[in-house]
Amino acid sequence: MSEFDLIRTYFAGLGARRTDVVLGVGDDCALLDLGADQWLAVSLDTLVAGVHFLADCDPEALGHKALAVGLSDLAAMGARPAWATLALTLPGADPAWVAAFAHGLGRLAKAHGVALVGGDTTRGPLAITVQVHGLVAPGQAIRRAGARPGDQVWVSGHLGDAGLALRRIQAGAPVSEPLRRRLERPDPRVAIGLRLRGLAHAMIDVSDGLAADLGHILEASGVGASVELAALPLSPDVAEALANGAGWDLPLAAGDDYELCFTAPAAHSGRIEAVALEARCPLTRIGCVTSEPGLRASQPDGALWPIARSGYDHFRDEA
Ligand code: ADP
Ligand code: MG
Repeated sequence: MSEFDLIRTYFAGLGARRTDVVLGVGDDCALLDLGADQWLAVSLDTLVAGVHFLADCDPEALGHKALAVGLSDLAAMGARPAWATLALTLPGADPAWVAAFAHGLGRLAKAHGVALVGGDTTRGPLAITVQVHGLVAPGQAIRRAGARPGDQVWVSGHLGDAGLALRRIQAGAPVSEPLRRRLERPDPRVAIGLRLRGLAHAMIDVSDGLAADLGHILEASGVGASVELAALPLSPDVAEALANGAGWDLPLAAGDDYELCFTAPAAHSGRIEAVALEARCPLTRIGCVTSEPGLRASQPDGALWPIARSGYDHFRDEA
């Protein structure tokens, strides 16, 4: 069974049915109606040593990334971050390591107005779980479902940087500092997510690669999309790697981008361009939503690129 089969079969809809659950399993965050004039947005992510990061990685960067991936999920709903809880499993109590980790997490939390309000600390193989809680006005959250034929497809920042950094590290090749930062200290696009409320029809954060994550929007919305590969926003490093023979899977499927992918009606394109200027982060139109299901990616010569991988699946290679 795939990761998604497991979730769908055993966990979606588990437990009591409650009328205050606006949105349960299946989006970047759950949405809970507290009866106040805010909905609570909740998301939880685990980073496991040897799977999500190398055991010898910089603990300060790890603290940053452990929170950043959660803030990215809040950004994808258009929610404002507020609180976090932290479950830390450590092989031993190394004060210098924990101090650096706490510093990295604390600095990002402060920058986004987030308070750490609880957690759990245990001994075992190194693993980190962060739960984030944010607020969004009722009806303002941007879900994966909501894309409509004719919408334009947009993506923030650049794609493929983290994947390229990881490939270079694994190959023992030199990695520039800016590229390493993109892998180790992603900058969650919270300000963009907030500004896209009322503009975007559907949104997701790109954690598993654009093809897989845009695929989740399309599936949830019951639509398809056509994407122009020549339009993908690429850093000079990734553009150079592509020119040197790296395939389109680098920006489409390498993952760990923590950018936002969203769809919006063409009438909002001017306001979306203004958001990019305000947030000082490029927003790029890469294609359009179609009523025909499926994701089609056209290469510069017009030929379709075969989208091979559908993102990272933790159980893909299990029998
Ligand atoms: P993301 O990439 O945004 O973190 P995931 O792909 O990890 O989202 O998860 C997809 C959806 O499944 C999310 O809504 C998540 O909350 C839910 N989910 C994942 N694992 C479980 C689980 N064990 N029990 C309940 N819900 C889960
Ligand atoms: Mg997500």
